[in-house]
Amino acid sequence: VTKDIDSNALTAVQVAVRIRPLTERDRQLPRFASAHDSDVLQAFENTVAVAAHNKSFTFDHVFGPDTQQVDIFTALGEKAIHQFVEGYNVTMLAYGQTSSGKTYTMGTAQLKGRYDPLHEGIVPRASTLLFDLLRQRASPSRPNSPFTGSTSMDGRRRPLSRISYSPTTTSPTNSNNNKTRFTVKVSFVEIYNEELIDLLNDAPPHERPPVNIREDTKGQIYWTGVKELVAHNVEDILMFLQMGTQNRATSATDMNEQSSRSHAIFSVTLRQEKWTPSPNGSTSSSRPASAMASPKSRTRPVSAINMRMNNDTPAEDGEWIITSSKLHFVDLAGSERLKRTAAEGDRRKEGININGGLLALGNVISALGDTSKRSTHIPYRDSKLTRLLQDSLGGSAKTLMIACVSPAEHNISESLNTLQYANRAR
Ligand code: ADP
Ligand code: MG
Repeated sequence: VTKDIDSNALTAVQVAVRIRPLTERDRQLPRFASAHDSDVLQAFENTVAVAAHNKSFTFDHVFGPDTQQVDIFTALGEKAIHQFVEGYNVTMLAYGQTSSGKTYTMGTAQLKGRYDPLHEGIVPRASTLLFDLLRQRASPSRPNSPFTGSTSMDGRRRPLSRISYSPTTTSPTNSNNNKTRFTVKVSFVEIYNEELIDLLNDAPPHERPPVNIREDTKGQIYWTGVKELVAHNVEDILMFLQMGTQNRATSATDMNEQSSRSHAIFSVTLRQEKWTPSPNGSTSSSRPASAMASPKSRTRPVSAINMRMNNDTPAEDGEWIITSSKLHFVDLAGSERLKRTAAEGDRRKEGININGGLLALGNVISALGDTSKRSTHIPYRDSKLTRLLQDSLGGSAKTLMIACVSPAEHNISESLNTLQYANRAR
């Protein structure tokens, strides 16, 4: 079943597998504990072998049970954040059965009182790197000034209980010699039963605006009715993560039930405005060769607009070059098959919809990787999940799937399903 590694060069999606260690919980289940747990899955370089089924699969990366969070971020996250800052849309997805380590790996849950940097997942690490990179980009000598709407760029930690924000009421504070400005916004939604739930909106459900997904003429995806909160620093991002995690937990009667059946999508959008002087003092509006990285994209993330009337625009002639990019962290619904006993009433509907989202995602990713299909039909519209991610999967976007698997023998058939799904994505 092993595929040729060279085909990686062509694939639109990078696929990594992470085998989690056995947890205390695994060990406490005597009827499940097995002497064979340690060798059900064997990782060797980029390959995972399932000896009992005589199968092996090769991926872009394989991480064994001893892999630490920091190693995952170094191998998979760092490059992605650099690409995001360069203007690419980036999507990182965690796939796998419930309790395989998706939320742990992605870091899409931030709960009070359980904070340990060693266990930080991708989202907090990515946020820290993002703001470091933006500060470097803005002005190496003036570390704390590049953010629009900022009144709190003093780098001091703000109390997590502070949940007020004023996205656009303050004007940019930059002085004229600071010629790059950034706006970072965060949204956090859940897709449950093909319905979008805004996890950053505290209003009761009947007072919330309807959420819709729209596509503009350039193929960019917009969501209306979803809060986008401005983040000035890492602390803001972690605060939003915590708000959303709490909302996710309290809106469900049984957190695990719902969270295992829904997709959680934590998104960061970055708008960069770079002042670019005209080459010879003229007011030419053509884009200079020194414009910011402008990755080729069917969504054209770069556009040049003249904002010379803006009062913080430098006195010299030139123009603001604007780049926008999106970064999605997706903690997917559990991939386990719906148990026959639970397949009644609403639960049945949930199960079908969730499998539909994962199925559509598999089909989209597989179509993207198939060079013969790439120019034809990619079935983004088959689910809310793929529709929402449409401009951030394929094309010039960078997509990484992390397939999470349990090492326990009693999970072997689900682990095999996950490896097969992930293998199809390559
Ligand atoms: P999922 O989101 O896929 O349902 P979780 O991320 O909640 O799974 O992981 C299930 C349990 O296993 C949690 O208690 C989590 O802390 C633990 N866990 C998962 N992966 C690891 C790992 N690599 N190292 C240590 N503990 C882990
Ligand atoms: Mg989870």
